[in-house]
Amino acid sequence: MNIDVRTDGDLPGCHRCQGQLYLTARLPHPGFPPRAGQIGVWSRIVGLCPRCDAADAHAHALLAFFAYHPQINEGNAAEFAALVQDWISGMPPPRTVDQRTLEEEITAWRRGELDG
Ligand SMILES: [Zn+2]
Repeated sequence: MNIDVRTDGDLPGCHRCQGQLYLTARLPHPGFPPRAGQIGVWSRIVGLCPRCDAADAHAHALLAFFAYHPQINEGNAAEFAALVQDWISGMPPPRTVDQRTLEEEITAWRRGELDG
C-alpha cells in the first residue's frame, strides 16, 4: 500500500476544527481497488490534528513524535513511518457503497416505492 504523506507548511486546515494539521496522508480507498489499465486510483486524504486526534490512542505516539521532533530526517524517518502505520491502522474504514443495495434502492425509487 502506497501512502503519500505531506508535512509541509501548505497543508489544508483541519476539516473538524479548522486548526493547523501536522500532516496529511493520501490513502488508497478500499471500496475502489485499482483496476488494470486504470490511471490513478480512488483515494482519500486523512489529516492528523493535534486537537481533534488527541483522544485517539492510535494517534498518541505520532502526536508525541511531532512534539519532540521539529522535522523528519534520516535519523527518525523509520520511526516516523512506523508511527504513521500505527495511526492509519487505527482508522475506521471509510463508508462504502454496497452496489447491490444501491441498485435495489434505485429500482425501488424508479417504481415510486420510496415516495412518501
Ligand atoms: Zn482538528
